[in-house]
Amino acid sequence: RQRILVVGAGMAGVQTAVRLREQGWAGEIVLAGAEPHRPYDRPPLSKAVLLGTAAGTAFEVDFDALGVDLRLGTAATALRTADREVDTEDGPLPYDRLVLATGAEPVPLPGARGVPGVYLLRTLDDAGLLRPVLAGRQDVVVVGAGWIGAEFATAAREAGCRVTVVEAADRPLAGVLPPEVAAPMRRWYGEAGVELLTGRAVTAVRPADRGRPGERVEVELSDGSVLRAGAVVAGIGARPATRWLAGSGVALGGDGAVLADDRLRASVPDVCAVGDCASFPSARYGRRLLVHHWDNALQGPRTVASVLVAGEAETPPYDPVPYFWSEQFGRFVQYAGHHGAGDELLWRGDPADAAWSVCWLRDGVLNAVLAVGRPRDLAQGRKLVERSAVLDPARAADPSVPLKSA
Ligand code: FAD
Repeated sequence: RQRILVVGAGMAGVQTAVRLREQGWAGEIVLAGAEPHRPYDRPPLSKAVLLGTAAGTAFEVDFDALGVDLRLGTAATALRTADREVDTEDGPLPYDRLVLATGAEPVPLPGARGVPGVYLLRTLDDAGLLRPVLAGRQDVVVVGAGWIGAEFATAAREAGCRVTVVEAADRPLAGVLPPEVAAPMRRWYGEAGVELLTGRAVTAVRPADRGRPGERVEVELSDGSVLRAGAVVAGIGARPATRWLAGSGVALGGDGAVLADDRLRASVPDVCAVGDCASFPSARYGRRLLVHHWDNALQGPRTVASVLVAGEAETPPYDPVPYFWSEQFGRFVQYAGHHGAGDELLWRGDPADAAWSVCWLRDGVLNAVLAVGRPRDLAQGRKLVERSAVLDPARAADPSVPLKSA
């Protein structure tokens, strides 16, 4: 029997196993993951799990019934393509075909390694370490006003912590959204009682040697000020977890992602890559995309399973409209598509209100939509982006006109 080995048992790895069986793969499937826990869903970690309101987030997948040989606590350390083997601490795992699904790992705060009270938020274990911080209503400093930083700050405020968010850029989500769209989000922090310090970088992190009881960490900022807190949470980005592939011959990009082709195949034969660890060329957007969102880890595995089971001729290129959501400061924020600098920006509604959307158009074609509390705009907009639909800008800017009729 031929064996497909899937390395990484997160959303992308688990979905790959599920889709392989759906596509009729009758051979062996070995799913090896570094973490000791049953495979679980990550988005709740920065939301309900932190507050202790979600019991567990394990995927409801019956691995035995699927005939999937699940190897937990098994980290891959090297890939030897000439031997078709992946090395692990428990010995080598042979394969006939291999799927790389090792996801991403958070970027640590420079200079903070080993400082007690400094946390990351990526895994169930990370969330478990942070729960007592929230339950104990410790003062927290969050570094980075991105998606994870905002969601953590939301949960920490809900738990009653005093929260300060430090952001090096002049606004939240600076890498993702243009200034005029991010500007209203700045207010969300204030309304939630979070202090947002922008334009200030962290220059040093060290154990606090004075201050009030419970203040374990000291954070020095570029303006010379010093913050003291019980905990510091770094939300400054994530990087593909591909270091173990160094020297394997699998081509990696400068961002660390496995350089997959338009059917998610890596540069060496019989190896695919999917989810947060891989980038792929998008014909739709005319550039290579590295997507770190849940929906990509859900959709990509269909392509991988198809190319491995049915073959290239039967598999259309993977060219999704990226989609993600975030829950922050009591708002449901969703985004679909990919906007560019030259796109025309249209508001649907007033950003001072609870619900509004933004559309990005290029030559009248809808490229991307951001919806705050307007899920219908997102659902309709996502389909319109997929179809490269042309909109009437005047109608699209009228929030009372359904987007699909604009
Ligand atoms: P991962 O989920 O990272 O899974 C990869 C797995 O591979 C991990 O379990 C890892 O331990 C394992 N692994 C790594 N290296 C090795 C190795 N060498 N050997 C074996 N196993 C290895 N996206 C949204 O769209 N909306 C959200 O609201 C949202 N919230 C999020 C909240 C948090 C706290 C986090 C961390 C992410 C969130 N995301 C969200 C992003 C989404 O969860 C990821 O895009 C998704 O988990 C990617 O799935 P993946 O399987 O590619 O990678």
